[in-house]
Amino acid sequence: MTAYLNGQYLPLAEARISPLDRGFLFGDGGYEVIPVYSHRPFRMDEHLRRLQTTLDGIRLPNPHSIDEWHDIVRHIIDQAEFEDQAVYIQVTRGADSKRDQAFPKDVPPTVFVFTAPMVNPSPAQRETGIAAITAPDIRWGRCDFKTVSLLPNVLARQLAVDAGCVETIMLREGYLTEGAASNIFVVKNGVISTPPKDHRILPGITCDVVLELAAQHNAAHEVRPVAEAELRSADEIWMTSSTKEVLPITTLDGHPVGDGKPGPIGKTMYAWYCTFRDEVMRRA
Ligand code: PMP
Repeated sequence: MTAYLNGQYLPLAEARISPLDRGFLFGDGGYEVIPVYSHRPFRMDEHLRRLQTTLDGIRLPNPHSIDEWHDIVRHIIDQAEFEDQAVYIQVTRGADSKRDQAFPKDVPPTVFVFTAPMVNPSPAQRETGIAAITAPDIRWGRCDFKTVSLLPNVLARQLAVDAGCVETIMLREGYLTEGAASNIFVVKNGVISTPPKDHRILPGITCDVVLELAAQHNAAHEVRPVAEAELRSADEIWMTSSTKEVLPITTLDGHPVGDGKPGPIGKTMYAWYCTFRDEVMRRA
């Protein structure tokens, strides 16, 4: 499998970075995951814009122009034999000769890109929906930056796995924020709601697609704070992400969501998403 590391294309197994890399020592870097359908990257410019926002937010100069990123990602995608992929991009503040938290001077960033087959939910998960738990959101104040400092997300996701569940939905001060690795939608009395994009959540590209589809099809939807009580009494809950797409959550903290089966609005939204994916994303 081909990877890109600091200007070189090489087999992933041969890619090496220094133990003094600040990504390794401090989690000092940003990343993106770009879904690829039929060898075509989806919403690449939006992903690159979000990467730019992250890099600006952590004061790390973007090492590549948009055209250069396109060239690197295109090269990586073309090398892979699988059609549907998830391309991973990571930029860190490089490897310094000493371990000092403050930014190093004149140290080049580390740029790493690789691709893997896209892993979507199984047909069984689609059929029955998945189980989630809730947990306090213990992350920092800039969750809108997609940084590699993911320890709170790692701990939250592991809580779900320990409980035999797929996702952990995080709550902060009585309100829904997002999943450990997804955005969350609720449906009540036919109205779809999701929290606003602010510093507390990652502005999901899939979340945007879902909101665009809701608007196109005149489905009632609101972007507003969602209280914990609304999450717990929702008729439907969905998670969205580049790889999970739109996936129903049918059990929350051991209780059924609605009647415990994937709800009609989520099914309709997933059907719209599939049509969009096959007619637009695969041709993008
Ligand atoms: N929130 C978090 C914390 C995530 O890790 C992800 C997945 N990258 C998302 C939301 C969904 O973002 P996207 O739709 O762009 O994959």
